[in-house]
Amino acid sequence: MSNQETKPIDTKKIQEMLNRRKGKMKRYLSHCAHCSLCAESCFLYMAHNKDPQYMPSYKAIHSLGKLYKKRGKVDRKYLSEIKGIVWRNCVLCGRCYCPIGIHIPSMIAFARSILRSQDVYPQLDEVSSESWL
Ligand code: SF4
Ligand code: SF4
Repeated sequence: MSNQETKPIDTKKIQEMLNRRKGKMKRYLSHCAHCSLCAESCFLYMAHNKDPQYMPSYKAIHSLGKLYKKRGKVDRKYLSEIKGIVWRNCVLCGRCYCPIGIHIPSMIAFARSILRSQDVYPQLDEVSSESWL
């Protein structure tokens, strides 16, 4: 069994990481007006027939937003669910445009680093499968 499946989740570490960037990240999350203007600038959203799950704001809210909402008290299963959003559904290309200056890629990159701190990241066999694209 791999480290990804067995290592206990260090919620204290997650909380520390969340707290370190709380000001900026919570501001981004609370200022989002859910206007969807960023959506069409995301090529993955367009390539997936405008599936709402690929909207930049959806991805940030359902990854980093949820980590803040749960105050970092999450289990491995929960982090594994977020993994697909932050790696499969976003490539951090930086093309998404928000008129009020919310920087989605930095939110998703931060969520990735939190997951990575707990050894949750895509395995090579996942990345090479078509379903990951
Ligand atoms: S991130 Fe910006 S553009 Fe996208 S939904 Fe939120 S406020 Fe609108
Ligand atoms: S950074 Fe992510 S959400 Fe923004 S346009 Fe690129 S793939 Fe889409």
